[in-house]
Amino acid sequence: MSKYDHIRNIAHKANLQLPEQGLVLFTFGNVSAADRNLRVFAIKPSGVPYEELTPDDMVIVDFDGITVEGKLRPSSDTLTHAVLYKQWDRIEGIVHTHSTYATAWAQTLRDIPIYGTTHADHLAYDIPCAPPMEDSMIRGNYEQETGFQIIDCLNQKGLRYEEVEMMLVGNHGPFTWGRSPEKAVYNSAVLEELAKMAYLSEQIRPGLDRMKKTLIQKHYERKHGPGSYYGQGGMR
Ligand SMILES: [Zn+2]
Repeated sequence: MSKYDHIRNIAHKANLQLPEQGLVLFTFGNVSAADRNLRVFAIKPSGVPYEELTPDDMVIVDFDGITVEGKLRPSSDTLTHAVLYKQWDRIEGIVHTHSTYATAWAQTLRDIPIYGTTHADHLAYDIPCAPPMEDSMIRGNYEQETGFQIIDCLNQKGLRYEEVEMMLVGNHGPFTWGRSPEKAVYNSAVLEELAKMAYLSEQIRPGLDRMKKTLIQKHYERKHGPGSYYGQGGMR
């Protein structure tokens, strides 16, 4: 027994969702689950295949990236998670994958344009793609700098992390987050689907325009606005 068992269990379950949703191959990808009161998160260990993972394998790390409890080495992306938890005080879950379509967009360094209502149901903006990092950042503390790159990119575009819960890191891949690990995994699956739809739309009609503002606002606000009326008041 440990006071961290609850987040170990949540992180374990959320990690298993990645292969189930077709978002990862082999040991790629990771999910973390935070307890903001204890200021720690549980994260997948480095290099362990999903089918062998147990809740006990999850490593407990603090918001400075220091391992607090666990037998295994935490995911190599742990410091990226730590930076985001430290900076953004309203998230409790983070996901990183190399899912195919989202990663393909990241490799082109393009934001994913908002072409349809499926996209607008989740966010009212293009999905941002952060530029590749400066050489000094790459040669320095790479994983930590990846976290700062994500934060800087959102700030530069004037976007709020509570509203835009997904982005691409140029030449690398997608990162998503949310108020719970389940929501962060959901966002990761949605991002992959939006990336796929946008890619196909551009194949069918090269040079197409973004959809118009009124339609974007209608779809975003009926789910997220003050007078939202979509669904039964479920996952937020
Ligand atoms: Zn990666």
